[in-house]
Amino acid sequence: MTAPALSGDGPLTLRDLAALDVDRLRGVGDARRRALADYGVDTVLDLLMSYPRRWIDRTNQMRISDAEIGAEVLLVVEIRSVEERTVRNRRRMVTARVGDGSGQISLVFFNQPWRMRQLEVGRSVAVHGRLEEFRGFRQMTNPLVDPIGDRTGRIVPIYPQSEKVRLSTWEIAGLVEQALRRCDARGIADPVPEEQLRRLGLMSRFEAMRAIHTPESMADAQSARRRLAFDELLRVQVALVRRKRELEAASRGVDHVIEGELINRFFDALPFPLTGAQRRAIDEITADMALTRPMHRLLQGDVGAGKTVVAIATLLTAVQGGHQGALMAPTEVLAEQHHSGITSVLADLRVPDTANLFGDRPLRIELLTNRVTGSDRRDVLAGLADGSVDLVVGTHALIQDAVGFASLGAVVVDEQHRFGVEQRAALRDKASARLPDVLVMTATPIPRTAAMTVYGDLDVSVLDELPPGRTPIVTRWAAGPLEEQAMWAQMRDEVAQGRQAYVVCPLITESEHLDVASAEETYERLSLSELAGLRVGLLHGRMAQADKESVMSAFRAGDLDVLVATTVIEVGVDVPNATVMAVLDADRFGIAQLHQLRGRVGRGRYASTCWLATGDSDGPNPRIDALVGSTDGFELAEIDLDLRGEGTLMSTAQKGRSDLRLASLRRDRELVAEARAVAFDIVDADLSMSANAVLADEISLLLSADEEEFLTK
Ligand code: ADP
Ligand code: MG
Repeated sequence: MTAPALSGDGPLTLRDLAALDVDRLRGVGDARRRALADYGVDTVLDLLMSYPRRWIDRTNQMRISDAEIGAEVLLVVEIRSVEERTVRNRRRMVTARVGDGSGQISLVFFNQPWRMRQLEVGRSVAVHGRLEEFRGFRQMTNPLVDPIGDRTGRIVPIYPQSEKVRLSTWEIAGLVEQALRRCDARGIADPVPEEQLRRLGLMSRFEAMRAIHTPESMADAQSARRRLAFDELLRVQVALVRRKRELEAASRGVDHVIEGELINRFFDALPFPLTGAQRRAIDEITADMALTRPMHRLLQGDVGAGKTVVAIATLLTAVQGGHQGALMAPTEVLAEQHHSGITSVLADLRVPDTANLFGDRPLRIELLTNRVTGSDRRDVLAGLADGSVDLVVGTHALIQDAVGFASLGAVVVDEQHRFGVEQRAALRDKASARLPDVLVMTATPIPRTAAMTVYGDLDVSVLDELPPGRTPIVTRWAAGPLEEQAMWAQMRDEVAQGRQAYVVCPLITESEHLDVASAEETYERLSLSELAGLRVGLLHGRMAQADKESVMSAFRAGDLDVLVATTVIEVGVDVPNATVMAVLDADRFGIAQLHQLRGRVGRGRYASTCWLATGDSDGPNPRIDALVGSTDGFELAEIDLDLRGEGTLMSTAQKGRSDLRLASLRRDRELVAEARAVAFDIVDADLSMSANAVLADEISLLLSADEEEFLTK
């Protein structure tokens, strides 16, 4: 029987499908309509986009009589009887007798009383599990069970959670098939140009829709998944790329002069050659800066990769052409550290100045934090306003209203994850006519594909190469008391040789209060035991600023041997003489955080060790293993993504009806990059997207405002 085609001309768009209520399908009366609504399906589009959770490959199906004990098998059986009883240790056991005409076995489930409802006598189910023998009877314990009803076909789709809303998975399958048949006459519109599909080896959208619900083979189902995942990623990328291009089109930046004496003198004065990665990043940045379009670029680089040099090159590029540069750090301590570092590197540089008799004057670098007050502050502010200050280093005090620039040309924001979105926005707003170029630096490596989505409206440069001559940090896992003794022994040893050490205290909770208590407790305990006789200092976030500083400067000066600290040392503390770190209860930290912490050692010419202590916790610990096995932040970020499973972008709350149902940042890395490239092609060909109205419309249909906002943050 052929179903009546949906009327109209041309292929059906997703908008067309979204306009069709599911009750237009045969067999959907009031009760089913309500059940479908509870399932999240109101329209034919919702139905077609309710993808199977998995597929059962009946080509692998076995007959009971052919299945061997010990083998993992797929059987399709009918339920003959079910019973529930309580066994030893009050465990509840559900047992079902099932058969397939060739024989019978038992299915045994422990502590799953809901199986009584699922295993209705007379139903057909697919069971997947290991066949075992128990007291002479053949059985499976806790197998995977999927009711498949009267579904035939080689590959049977299983729809998630449908039983919760009184819909069987085969009822959904039946409705989906009916909907697909009704689309046959007109087909489903495909917004991706055919040549791109061919190049990427993707099937057409209608084929994919059919194949994901009714695949001919498992390979077919996987190809369908890939195509539809691509569509999801493409929609996200087009939204991001469009936003990016619109912002660029709406604002004018400064077209910097990128060749000049100043920057060359800076490079010449460096005691080392640039790494290839630094060269590349600087080229990418200066190429951006030369354009009138304002730069908005992310610089990713592991701890120690040499981001500061890139930052300075960016700022000097602005200064060279008569503009000003600003560097913003997340804390006052870091701002001061940057200020003194940059001042010493740039000490002898002179900037062109036609008003001056000699045609140039010394480069003027100032610090501006909340601690710069009184006449000093007035001085700096006046210099920023009249242009006599070339470079300013500060915290977000820099973007307070009172600060006016003569001509702000470039802004570098260090450690982006501590720096709010609004703060960045405020800085951009400060510039009246022309937007300064913005470079955001982060030491938290993000897998490239994740960066393309999380920072999708930014361009990304990566420092994926460490300067030569580093002694790699050895990381060791202290998994028990013996290794912990070795850890403290090594720490005492290094101190005896004049080196210094960090102890990072356990992270108790989100509460800073408890962390402080734990740090104090650890400090007292260690001072009396493992670290007795050493000069030990304590540093935590609740200390008064002045106390923090005096501890830090004592440690920097070598007047303290060991610094016991909370994670406040995570960012930016730079003491090259520190060669040992012990992280206590390391299993409470994430990979990224441990990697950041570890970066506090190995900053000098001495070999360094980072100990990760996990107390008595036994058993495998893949995160600790990862850190022991690699010091490459990008590799660790990839492992982290793998370990965290699906790597979905959206928070759980947003997942439900999210457009990212199939795409996974973990599995689909290559697809993310492809989607981004195609998105640039499409958007750059036509920002208004009038030539690809179908795609533009899909984006407004499927990407909620929430999601778009999330993605562009
Ligand atoms: P990051 O900010 O990325 O953590 P830094 O900019 O602080 O790293 O650089 C870390 C150290 O490496 C500094 O001591 C710096 O002088 C040094 N350094 C930077 N670039 C190079 C290079 N190309 N060759 C050798 N040493 C370098
Ligand atoms: Mg740095």
